[in-house]
This record gives sequence, C-alpha cells and structure tokens, in this order.
Amino acid sequence: MTREEVAVIYYDKDADLNVLKGKKIAVMGYGSQGHAQAQNLKDSGIDVVVGLRKGSKSWAAAEEAGLTVKTVSEAAEEADIIQILLPDEVQPRVYREEIAPSLRPGKAIMFSHGFNIHYHQIVPPEYVDVLMVAPKGPGHLVRRMYVEGKGVPALLAIHQDASGKAKEIGLAYAKAIGATRAGVIETTFKEETETDLFGEQAVLCGGCTALIKAGFETLVEAGYQPEIAYFECLNELKLIVDMMYEGGIKYMRFSISDTAEYGDLTRGPRIIDDHVRATMKQLLKEIQDGTFAREWILENQAGRPVFNALRQREREHLIERVGDRLREMMPWLKKEK
Ligand code: NAD
Ligand code: MG
Ligand code: MG
Ligand code: MG
Ligand code: MG
Ligand code: MG
Repeated sequence: MTREEVAVIYYDKDADLNVLKGKKIAVMGYGSQGHAQAQNLKDSGIDVVVGLRKGSKSWAAAEEAGLTVKTVSEAAEEADIIQILLPDEVQPRVYREEIAPSLRPGKAIMFSHGFNIHYHQIVPPEYVDVLMVAPKGPGHLVRRMYVEGKGVPALLAIHQDASGKAKEIGLAYAKAIGATRAGVIETTFKEETETDLFGEQAVLCGGCTALIKAGFETLVEAGYQPEIAYFECLNELKLIVDMMYEGGIKYMRFSISDTAEYGDLTRGPRIIDDHVRATMKQLLKEIQDGTFAREWILENQAGRPVFNALRQREREHLIERVGDRLREMMPWLKKEK
C-alpha cells in the first residue's frame, strides 16, 4: 500500500445550520434513505417537504411522521434544495419530467449516490448547485443514530458550485441529518460512483457470493453433504464479518483458532491470486470507461432480460434450497422470503 490517510473530514464545528434558514428542502422519495433524511431534517428544525407519487404507499407513512407530502413536481417547485432519493434507475425520467422544469438560478439539487451525474444520465443546468451528501449506512441506521444523538458518517461531493455556497449547503445538510456528529469525508462524484460500483462488484456482492458458491460447490462435488457445506461456506461468514466490522481483520484473526489463522494467512493469497487481481483491474477499467454503466442503462431500457434471467437462475441454485431448509432450524432468524 502506498497511501496513508489523506481524507479531509468535517465535523459539527465545520458546519452551520443557519445556511439552511429560510430555505425549503424537498426530499424526493420516502424509502430507505428518504424517510431517514426527511425525518432527521425535520427534527433539526429544517423546513422539509417530501415528494412522492400520487397513490404511493409511503404517502400516509410520511404524513404520520409529521411531514408535509406533495407530488414530486409540486415539491420541486417550492423547494430551494432538492434531495433526490428515488431508485437510481428511475431518477433520470423523474428528473426530466418532474424536477427539471422547476429549476431556477439559486436552487440546489442533491444526491446520495453519484451514478446519474457521473454517467451523464442527469445533466442539470449550469445555474444550479449540484452536490452529494451520501450517508455510509442504510437509512434505518441513519435515523436510529440521529435519534440517539449520534450519526452515521457521510461523503460530501460538489459537482457544480453555481452559488459559490455549495459546500456550505452540503455541510449544513450533513449536519442536519446527523452526519457531522460522526464525520463527513470530502470526495468527488467520480470517486464515490466508481468505488461504490467496484466495491459491490468485486468484493461485497459479486466477489463474496461467487466465493461462497465456489467453495460450496467444491465441497458438494467432492461428495460432502450440502448441509455441512452450507454451514462452512455461508452461515459462518456472518461471524467472521461481524468481527472484522467491529475490530478489523486483526480482531477476527485474534478470535479464530491459530489453525484457522495459519490457513488464512498461507491459503488466502493462493485463492485471491494474480489472476483474480488482474480481473479486478479489468472490472475497474470497465467502470472507469463507462462500459458497465452503458451496459446497465441499456439493460434497463430493454426491460432487463439478462438481469431477470440471471436472477431467476441464481434463486434456483442448490445453496438457496439447502439454505431455506437449514434456516428453518434457526428460530432466531426472522423469515424473509
Ligand atoms: P428506495 O428504493 O428505498 O426508495 C425509493 C423511494 O422512491 C420509495 O419511497 C419509492 O416509493 C419512491 N419512488 C419510486 N419511484 C418513484 C417515482 N417515479 N416517483 C416518486 N417516487 C418514487 O431507495 P434508497 O435505497 O433509499 O435509495 C435512494 C438513493 O439513496 C439512491 O440514489 C441510492 O443509491 C442512495 N443510497 C442508498 C442507500 C441505502 O442504504 N439504501 C445508502 C446510500 C445511498
Ligand atoms: Mg434489491
Ligand atoms: Mg456502496
Ligand atoms: Mg451501490
Ligand atoms: Mg469452521
Ligand atoms: Mg486467534
């Protein structure tokens, strides 16, 4: 590794809520991030309106939480700052049809993920501020930490600073959702988007599930019972990840047996070898040059034929069927089908 910590980190003292005085913030969407950010803003004394579709199931829930709810276009019209927390795939159309018409100089639009700006699926006029405040945790945690007087760290990025105040706005917003209590790291739309895609593809989702399945299949093909393979290759992963999450790889290694640790230290690098690292570099290149984004955008435009077929095939994998049965034996797991 060649780089030590270099990130700029902002805390409560670096942010001023007064920047948002007299401004109205529209939070579009009331899902994972939307409900948490809208409620935190409101509890910080900010004038918030939630933008939803007519007939949306979330409409009543948002009103129950004491929030004002309007259609996306109405909310966009009256807001000074528009935080877009819709699913990333629907953002471009809703932006075009219901948000863009209300954009005027002095307004700001915000995101919690950079995909649509970075890959030019949304191209805002040059006279608005464009920024990102992206909590590094799921919405329910963003809300729970806020209520407990704490916060979830967030990323801050400025894409366009028309007002000259984009950063102050972003920091004030981050403070209002509780993020500066924990720390806000400055980044760019490019860095956030590319590292997010790489992380989920190479490590968290793609790499992890492929590793689990390959291990499981290796044991089953060698004649071991699928139930036993499931425990060793999937179920126990949670214990390992929890320990790394709490105290790093070193804490996990402290906790496992020396036999496990020796196997880890000497065999791990043989699994993730130069070939895997070369493939990782290739995935990163496809993210950086837009190949992956183009593919995913076209896939959505075509009605998701590849995505749906792969999703179905994966659901029928032996590991899922074995897992369904074994989880019935684990009364502490709530069932999510
Ligand atoms: P979500 O799927 O949980 O919620 C989306 C909301 O948008 C729902 O309330 C849905 O009813 C509403 N919606 C959908 N289509 C709509 C339409 N056409 N008009 C109006 N409303 C519509 O989404 P999310 O996971 O909260 O993600 C929102 C943004 O936050 C994304 O950019 C995502 O990348 C980012 N983000 C999410 C997380 C997370 O923990 N889920 C973390 C960091 C960043
Ligand atoms: Mg999903
Ligand atoms: Mg991510
Ligand atoms: Mg992602
Ligand atoms: Mg074991
Ligand atoms: Mg040990």
